[in-house]
Amino acid sequence: MLSKKLHEAINDQINAELWSAYLYLSMSLDADNKGFKGVANWFYVQFQEEQAHARIFMNYLNSRDAKVELKEIDKVETSWDSILDMFKDTLKHEKKVTSLINNIAAIANDDKDFASINRMVWFIDEQVEEEESAREMIQSFEAVADNKYGMYMLDKELATRTYNVPSPLASSAE
Ligand code: MG
Repeated sequence: MLSKKLHEAINDQINAELWSAYLYLSMSLDADNKGFKGVANWFYVQFQEEQAHARIFMNYLNSRDAKVELKEIDKVETSWDSILDMFKDTLKHEKKVTSLINNIAAIANDDKDFASINRMVWFIDEQVEEEESAREMIQSFEAVADNKYGMYMLDKELATRTYNVPSPLASSAE
């Protein structure tokens, strides 16, 4: 059985992942509005991934016979000054998510809840990738700066990103 503290932390994380999904959907829509279809696609894939993260945590609570309680999702920003600013906010946000994930792992560790520690390892690795990809995007957009052709080519490249079902969900029927 999960401790009350761990149950609540994971339940709160479901809300945080759904809020992340909502944030990236908002960035996707703003990018589309600014005429960057590729960036809009990149953030739409991000939106799908965050919903999958929430789903993985929901499945995990269900599998441990712990009830999921959905909470209110806070409002998100709806416009950014530039695409570069979106990616800077993405990195800032993912660093925050990393600290939330680490906190859950620390609680699981204190509880000696090995199944939960094992589940959190996937998320710990995922956060390394999330921060790395946000940093790469910042570097790319800083490199092209105000070069219109560079922006055009970069946008075209981001249009090719596709959503892949994360491995913890790919192995189930969902
Ligand atoms: Mg996430």
